[in-house]
Amino acid sequence: MDKITAVFGSMVFNDIVMKDRLPKDTYKALKKNMEEGTNLSLDVANVVANAMKSWALEKGATHFTHWFQPMTGITAEKHDSFLAPTSDGGVIMEFSGKELIQGEPDASSFPSGGIRATFEARGYTNWDPSSYAFIKENTLCIPTAFCSYGGEALDKKTPLLRSMETLNVQALRVLKLFGQYEVKKVVSTIGAEQEYFLINKDLFDKRKDLIYCGRTLFGAKPPKNQELEDHYFGAIKPRVNAYMEELDEELWKLGILAKTEHNEVAPSQHELAPVFTTSNIATDQNQLTMEIMKKVAANHDLVCLLHEKPFAGVNGSGKHVNWSISTDSGENLLSPGKNPAGNLRFLLFLCAVIKAVDEYQDLLRVSVASPGNDHRLGGNEAPPAIISMFIGDDLEALLTSIEAGEASPEVKDRTMNIGVQVLPNFKRDTTDRNRTSPFAFTGNKFEFRMPGSGASISCPSYMLNVTVAESLRQFADILEASKDMEASVKTLIKKTIIKHKRIIFNGNNYSEEWVVMAEKRGLYNLKSTVEALPHYTSEKNLELFKRHGIFTEVEVKARQEIILREYCNLLNIEALTMTDMVNKDILPAVSGYIKTLTDTALAKAQIADVSFELEKEWVTNLSSISLSLYRSVQELENALLEVNAIEELFTTTEYYSKNVLPIMKEIRIAADTLETMTASKCWPFPVYGELLFSV
Ligand code: ADP
Ligand code: MG
Repeated sequence: MDKITAVFGSMVFNDIVMKDRLPKDTYKALKKNMEEGTNLSLDVANVVANAMKSWALEKGATHFTHWFQPMTGITAEKHDSFLAPTSDGGVIMEFSGKELIQGEPDASSFPSGGIRATFEARGYTNWDPSSYAFIKENTLCIPTAFCSYGGEALDKKTPLLRSMETLNVQALRVLKLFGQYEVKKVVSTIGAEQEYFLINKDLFDKRKDLIYCGRTLFGAKPPKNQELEDHYFGAIKPRVNAYMEELDEELWKLGILAKTEHNEVAPSQHELAPVFTTSNIATDQNQLTMEIMKKVAANHDLVCLLHEKPFAGVNGSGKHVNWSISTDSGENLLSPGKNPAGNLRFLLFLCAVIKAVDEYQDLLRVSVASPGNDHRLGGNEAPPAIISMFIGDDLEALLTSIEAGEASPEVKDRTMNIGVQVLPNFKRDTTDRNRTSPFAFTGNKFEFRMPGSGASISCPSYMLNVTVAESLRQFADILEASKDMEASVKTLIKKTIIKHKRIIFNGNNYSEEWVVMAEKRGLYNLKSTVEALPHYTSEKNLELFKRHGIFTEVEVKARQEIILREYCNLLNIEALTMTDMVNKDILPAVSGYIKTLTDTALAKAQIADVSFELEKEWVTNLSSISLSLYRSVQELENALLEVNAIEELFTTTEYYSKNVLPIMKEIRIAADTLETMTASKCWPFPVYGELLFSV
């Protein structure tokens, strides 16, 4: 057996293992639950738990944990050992169905957005059989959802599962109208391309900003950046190669099909893409991927940076969420087929997405909002903050003809012949790429390009699921009442195009003209987290969440509060780190250098006819910039005192964005200027050139 097949999924309690180790009827009951969402009895759970335990023990596991995804954005686990005492003073290994189904971690230390006061600490974790259990570091990990004593979602998985259920219900209604009664389940699928930076651990350790904030708060532009575009898809260096190899193997063991790896645009930036799977599993796997990326880096004396914008002046990192909808037999509902014009089902699902993205632009924007991503979106490297869709020229021409009631444009022959006889001909894709679009159709799926590299993909996924479910719900309502299905579908498609075509834009999303045009079209341009977040709880959106059982009003408000609090906390940490680095490292270093220059000037003064003009001018400039830097830091400290005195959360957030951020910008400019004027050996921490070009 080749290596990949041998290790792939070896640490996962997957379908093959279940089939092998579970009694037939238990396996059947479990599969039925996974496929149709039926309830599981405790008897079945007991048998599954027992099989999981023996499998895990054979693999060397000693502990088990409910693995969950609280609102911190990372995963949480609380390990228990399998050991249980026996009456004769010995021990046995135990793991019951009850322990599999339900856990009760103390919920009080996880963010809840005010859903429970700390004295109501009870929270429950609940086994999610639709995502496979796995072994990580000698611990059997059971994927679970996490909720409060009152049943409110306290995690990122619960709303995702809820959104998959509603998408399933509404999509099945539509498929029945097309006569597809055989389809039992519709799921959304995701392939999340993950971008990251690798830098040397010894350099990382010398930078407080990287340690505390995950990004650099200072750093002048090095002589070379990404302008030569020589890193993108470039040959991978041996050290990075070794890292990727180990990473692949670790991911394969966990059943994560890491497939494509390449260098990205910025120096030291790379990307990993897995093969897509259902959104729930994809979300779990992406969380694991991020964790393992960091862990494996340590084995190579590297640090993996997952921050959205670790360095100014070079591209930040995103996470492209490739999203589609598929039936249980793997039929992709967003696949146009050979003749899109005659494929009414495809056109209807496409229209459902168009309508969803237009009506809920604000929610898609909310789903990617974070202070880190604020540095990225709109920076001419990532999509702008304006949500629009790219569908490509062919589809656009088709939609235009439908709108005008004209014959559909001829399907173009897409055979490529680049004029060299020895190269085999091939078919080109139905759509070209548009790297500037936030939401691009790429042939049979959409690529949502706004999510930041460090965030969970759960929120973008459930927003897509629920908003498209809402379109499908409205479509099904209309079509179920119609007598002539084909005519009604056509009318519905046409109406949807007319109403929502403003969201389609195939041009350059980085251009100034687009900003103006988008405003004319009435599209949102929510530039920052602070501008986007109030939309989370608008009437329209609360109504959507309620109707589809995604969130109660209390739950949405809690989520909004958690994001805003996190925004304030992060900015506070960044501001304090800046202050610390300026006062304790930068200013003392510059003073030291001034002393050297002054000493040189004094020495020169001893020699007749030698001028110390140079030192004089240099010292004068360094002193005056240092002084203004010092003043800005004082200003920042005052602003922090002021903001800490504000009670209301929205006001606090706004203060950070309007008052704190601009001072931080000034501080950075002054400090970076000082860096360019100070001798390398005096500068207190590694500079951009070293960080970006030394791996
Ligand atoms: P591209 O060349 O456009 O980036 P790829 O084939 O490399 O396309 O796919 C990029 C990502 O999209 C991969 O993670 C892939 O698994 C994922 N993907 C492909 N098809 C689908 C689909 N139907 N649903 C969700 N993701 C998909
Ligand atoms: Mg892609």
